[in-house]
Formats: sequence, structure tokens, C-alpha cells
Amino acid sequence: QAKKIPGTSIVMADAKFEESLSRAMEQEQELKNAIIKREITLFYQPKVDALTHQLMGFEALARWIRPGKGNVNPAEFIAVAEKTALINDLGSMLLDEACSQIATWYHQFGDCVPVAVNVSPIQLLDPNFSELIRDVIAKFNIPPRLLTLEITESAAINDLDQTQQQISQLQHMGIHVAMDDFGTGYSSLSMLRRLRVQTLKIDRALIDPLPSQEATAIVVSICQLAKALNMHVVAEGVETTDQSEAARKAGCHELQGYLFAKPLRYNEAEAWLAHRFDALIDQP
Ligand code: C2E
Ligand code: MG
Ligand code: MG
Ligand code: MG
Repeated sequence: QAKKIPGTSIVMADAKFEESLSRAMEQEQELKNAIIKREITLFYQPKVDALTHQLMGFEALARWIRPGKGNVNPAEFIAVAEKTALINDLGSMLLDEACSQIATWYHQFGDCVPVAVNVSPIQLLDPNFSELIRDVIAKFNIPPRLLTLEITESAAINDLDQTQQQISQLQHMGIHVAMDDFGTGYSSLSMLRRLRVQTLKIDRALIDPLPSQEATAIVVSICQLAKALNMHVVAEGVETTDQSEAARKAGCHELQGYLFAKPLRYNEAEAWLAHRFDALIDQP
């Protein structure tokens, strides 16, 4: 219909709008199917101690593996999930998967390192979110200290009061909360004052230019700030030994990045755990 009267900007805009609308609906449907068919799974990226490079934790990262087709970039499908209501279904499915994995490892190795799950601020707005966490921890009977929640900055946190309340409820349950991608995007210093998280993850964009003088100054001051607020600091996206050394000297406690490991399938992640906990058992 729109194409019958071409030439005006309004009609062009309509056609474009319809096209993007149908594309958006298509994406939503594809994502819905992927959730139902369980095509989305978690990979685990190690975080290591800045000095000893010993395994300190994992970050669980969603992977959409489409049989016969390429994988979909998480930033893309998470954005689609956030724009629709699907982030809640997807989020609770992934939390279930992560906690099930924690339980398996906890029994297999006698202990486990904390596994961090990324949580969209939209999930935090659900008043039942801390109930959901309580339930999943009870379902798999895992120590709450083994679950960390990383609040991603993929969307603006616009209700700080409610987010703050949710975070302190979670912390009272023994869950650790980390602020992801710190130093870029929506994370701000005033947010830091309001949301008393235990850990700051410095965004890759600030780690990448290390060991340049400017980047070092910024990372040093974030670490000083974190120390004053009694927070733990993780550097993300560490790719070179120069960056690793600079981040450690600047005061980062843990490092994460391709230098140490890419996000791994659960069985490859298990090899890291075996190494960590076998080493412990072997000690006299
Ligand atoms: P993020 O939480 O900040 O995760 C870090 C991203 O950096 C991951 O990308 C990881 O694969 C990548 N990365 C890690 N080390 C390096 C490195 O040394 N160099 C480079 N270039 N990249 C590195 P990924 O897996 O594509 O995820 C992108 C974003 O999507 C995540 O950023 C997070 O915001 C979101 N995301 C991923 N999984 C989930 C999830 O299960 N739930 C939610 N809500 N968001 C998720
Ligand atoms: Mg993260
Ligand atoms: Mg991040
Ligand atoms: Mg990110």
C-alpha cells in the first residue's frame, strides 16, 4: 500500500517503519523459539587472582548456538530480549542453568569458585526478583556465596531506589553483587554511592589502552575509590601481559580476559576447577 504512492518522505518513513517493525517481530519470535528449544546456553570465563593467576571465579556468558547457522552475538539478542519481555524468561532460564552447574561442581570438587551471572537492570525491576534468586538457590541447595550477580550496563538503571532495595535484599541473602562495565556507559559515581555493590568490574575500554599513562591514571584512581568504599576490583578484557601487569600494579584484585582464557564450555571450565581444587587436596 505504501509503495503505491512513493516520493514523499512520510510514505518512505512508513515503509521503513513497517519493515523494521516486522524485522523486530521476527527477531522476537526467533528468540522465543530459541528459549523454548533451549538453544541458548552458558559458557564460563575464568577470573584469576591478579598476582598468582589462580582461578578465583567464573563469569557465565550466554551463547546462542543455532544448529546449521552461525551464532548470534549476545549483545544483540540480549538487547532484543530487553526490548521485549523475554529477558525475564531468558534470565531465569540462565540462572537455573548456572545454579545447576554450581551444584554439580560443588559436589564434584567439594567446593567451587563463585560463578557470576549477568543480570539486566530490567530483571531487577521485577519485585519478585530476590524471591526468584532465593528459590533457585534453595532448589539446587547451593551456598549463596557461590553466586554473584553482575549488573550489566546494557540499559539505564532509572529506578535507583528500587534497584538499591533489591540489591540489599540480595546481599542480605549472602549473594555478591558486582557492577559491570564500570567507567563507561550508564555507570556513574553517584550510582556507586547509592548502589553499594561488593565488586566493580572495570570496562574493557579502560583496560585496553593500558599501560599508557592516561589509562593507568584512570585505573589507579578507580582502584583508590574502590578501596575507600571497601570494594573489590576486577579488570575485564585483559589481552596482553603488559595490560595484566599494569592492571595489577594499579590495584586491580582480579583479572579476566583472553590472555588467561576465553569463555569456555562447561567441560573445559571443569579442567580449571580440577586444577584448582586438586592442588588444594594435594597439599599436606
Ligand atoms: P559483559 O558482561 O561485560 O561480558 C564481557 C564480554 O567481553 C563478553 O562478551 C566476553 O566474551 C568479552 N571478553 C572477555 N574477555 C575479553 C577479551 O580479552 N577481549 C575481548 N575483546 N573481549 C573479551 P559477550 O559474551 O559477547 O557478551 C557481551 C555482553 O552481553 C556482556 O558484556 C553482557 O552485558 C551481555 N550478556 C552476555 N551474557 C548475558 C546474560 O546471560 N545475561 C545478560 N543480561 N547479559 C548477558
Ligand atoms: Mg558481565
Ligand atoms: Mg563487562
Ligand atoms: Mg559489557
